[in-house]
Amino acid sequence: MRILVTGGAGFIGSHLVEQLLSLGHKVVTLDDLSTGKLTFLQDVINHPNHVFVRGSVLERSLLNEVMDGCEVVFHLAAVLGVKNTVENPLKVIEGNIDGTRNVLELAYPRKTKVIFASTSEVYGKNECLPFREDSNRILGSTKKNRWCYATAKALDEHFCFAYAEKGLPVTVVRYFNAYGPRANVSQYGGVIPKFITQAIAGDPISVYGDGEQTRCFTYIDDTIRGTIACIDHQHNNEVYNIGIDNVISINQLAKKIKELSDSNSQIIYIPYKSVYGEGYEDTPNRRPDLSKAKQKLNFQPTTKIDEGLRKTIAWYRKNGMENSSVQ
Ligand code: NAD
Repeated sequence: MRILVTGGAGFIGSHLVEQLLSLGHKVVTLDDLSTGKLTFLQDVINHPNHVFVRGSVLERSLLNEVMDGCEVVFHLAAVLGVKNTVENPLKVIEGNIDGTRNVLELAYPRKTKVIFASTSEVYGKNECLPFREDSNRILGSTKKNRWCYATAKALDEHFCFAYAEKGLPVTVVRYFNAYGPRANVSQYGGVIPKFITQAIAGDPISVYGDGEQTRCFTYIDDTIRGTIACIDHQHNNEVYNIGIDNVISINQLAKKIKELSDSNSQIIYIPYKSVYGEGYEDTPNRRPDLSKAKQKLNFQPTTKIDEGLRKTIAWYRKNGMENSSVQ
């Protein structure tokens, strides 16, 4: 197949592009390199079946051009990261809503299949675990910027399903905290790259809040397998949780990373308000119900956290330090 990957120079996108090429597909990558890096694609940049285009999903005519002849679009281009969400709400809202709308509008007349990268953030503060695909979304006030990313992605999902009702083949995947080599090396990085970078440097490992919040960290290879499984048209008009259901607290994660990287770093605690300002709200716990993905996609995550962290730490030791800007 000829496949377009938007955001293909990013963390998840670059792994997806590599895997699609290794499966024999032809891939067009569209990325504005706002957080993605060409070096993430260095192994495939000259691959005969790969074309890289630097540009934005917000440029409609360019998007129209690169979508031509593609049977599938994996739409991953997005503005993300909690810090971005809190500090640049307009960028997050416009970047996520306008880009997705362009992708869907241009895919529709061609009936190009769209696989849209959504997020576990859409479940918000719901405390009823595990999250099933049809669980309620419980978000805070619109006066709190923190919820604008979850809201934008949820509206994107509504766009997807509205187009699906009109006959566009669309599948939505909700990722649960993906990690691995190349994970969010930017300044808006996630907790695993931050802890690893701090542990390797011997700097304090900074836990926000009391560290008792829990997450399910999913190794990138599992994330990619679940994503690619959605290509089949039997998954049109469906949404799937893509993650792992092993829970770990941020305190446990900090200790594990310290141990696995053989670090002398201290673990310190920083109140949310000194990082994200007064009134910041976090999602206390997050865990996917994977029964639908297991049953319909035949998706089963296989990478245990210790194994995934070892591979990620090894990558950071080799590549990551100079690219990181840890907050
Ligand atoms: P990332 O920042 O590494 O990747 C996003 C990519 O999109 C970057 O390469 C960036 O340069 C590109 N981009 C941003 N705006 C663009 C635009 N207007 N036009 C073209 N390219 C643009 O982040 P990621 O972690 O790889 O996330 C990929 C997707 O998965 C996103 O849609 C994100 O919302 C979703 N997601 C990720 C996670 C996670 O744990 N990493 C969790 C839930 C959802």
